[in-house]
Amino acid sequence: MSDSEDKERLAIDGGVPSRQRKDPPMYPGGMMIDAEEEQAVLETLRSKRLFRYYGPQDGPSQVALLEEEFGRMLGSPHALAVTSGTAALICALQGVGVGPGDEVIVPAYTWIASASAVAAVGGIPVLAEIDESLTLDPADVERKISPFTRAIMPVHMRGVPCRMDRLLEIGARRGLALVEDVAQADGASFGGQRLGTLGDAGCFSFQFNKILTAGEGGMLLTRSEAVYKRALMYHDVVGGLRNHFPTDEILWGINFRMAELQAAVMRVQLKRLEGLLATMRRSKQVLTSGLQKIARRKSISLQEIPDPAGDASIALIFFTRDAGTAGQIAAALQAENIGAGVLYRPDVTDYHIYAHWTPLMEQRPWTPNGGPWRWAQREIRYTRGDCPRSLDLLGRAIHLNVNPLLSDSDLEETLDGFEKVLGKLA
Ligand SMILES: *Cc1c(COP(=O)(O)O)cnc(C)c1O
Repeated sequence: MSDSEDKERLAIDGGVPSRQRKDPPMYPGGMMIDAEEEQAVLETLRSKRLFRYYGPQDGPSQVALLEEEFGRMLGSPHALAVTSGTAALICALQGVGVGPGDEVIVPAYTWIASASAVAAVGGIPVLAEIDESLTLDPADVERKISPFTRAIMPVHMRGVPCRMDRLLEIGARRGLALVEDVAQADGASFGGQRLGTLGDAGCFSFQFNKILTAGEGGMLLTRSEAVYKRALMYHDVVGGLRNHFPTDEILWGINFRMAELQAAVMRVQLKRLEGLLATMRRSKQVLTSGLQKIARRKSISLQEIPDPAGDASIALIFFTRDAGTAGQIAAALQAENIGAGVLYRPDVTDYHIYAHWTPLMEQRPWTPNGGPWRWAQREIRYTRGDCPRSLDLLGRAIHLNVNPLLSDSDLEETLDGFEKVLGKLA
């Protein structure tokens, strides 16, 4: 066999893989950790000031500085650092006043924490379909509104901004709060405004898998003084006292306070954000234009991006004609050393998809008498078939990380692999 024939042959059939190397690990901020983070941690440790509110050293706390810098960079007058993205969501829901029996509309495709946060404040997650953007379908959100609905939770999955113009319009018209889950979309925007600053509150995660990271951590942004005050009180057992609220306004809180060491790391990570976004956007542009050419000949379609300029560009997603084809294409791409995967399989548990959220599907309470569904005293039902359109889209979707460490030749070879695999299988 000639060399060129070998190049044509799919790697899954014994041909030469298009990509010479596999992707590096996909931890955008995590892989950037270097001497700067080390220095920041050492300085904080040596100061012995490890708690935001006091210590042997005076001066501003790392957490307070991070809040100021994060809020300024994203354009929010208030920022509250917390221990996780889930903690940020819980504080935001308390902040906007979601409580027992209140319904919150969440997308069928999101990390289960979005729904867990609603249940944690006694609220009831109501599932809505996603559309070809793989984010909330505004038309289905509208259909799912009931007299009990208090809030909508747009989740900017895989760095892609939701259709915020339409969701904000629905929220305003129906008198509902919008709590944005920005855990996967640090720095992304819609209509030139950063995500997390469009709704009533925006929630970020600094867990290790996210764009920026301190291992764990979270942040809440809001332009509302009232939401900020409630979140501030809730995130600290004595938040009301500590922040000098009038005694008759004080509510109890729990502890979600960020540690100084985490904030020291995050302040360095924040400086890396624009560079990471620029790199990933450039790479995604290259991959997208190559894929668009193939899409004109083959039966694939690209994910719809409600505001392409605002996309954080951490992922490239396209749809094939059916789930069987998606499985074949993903396997063939993997053999080419391209880190592709399908987004949903009924038989593979993945807590990003509502159908696999067994504790929610079965309305499992922590105690026999507990649980928001029982307290609600009305019939609430979940089934795996609740959002069929979402499952169909996710089942036909192929996902690739847009790794900031990809070189130009990695990108070229990825496009070669697309040509080869989609030419034969799409
Ligand atoms: C990671 C994530 C969360 C939760 O963040 P943690 O910091 O892990 O609590 C919430 N929503 C989405 C969409 C996420 O990806």
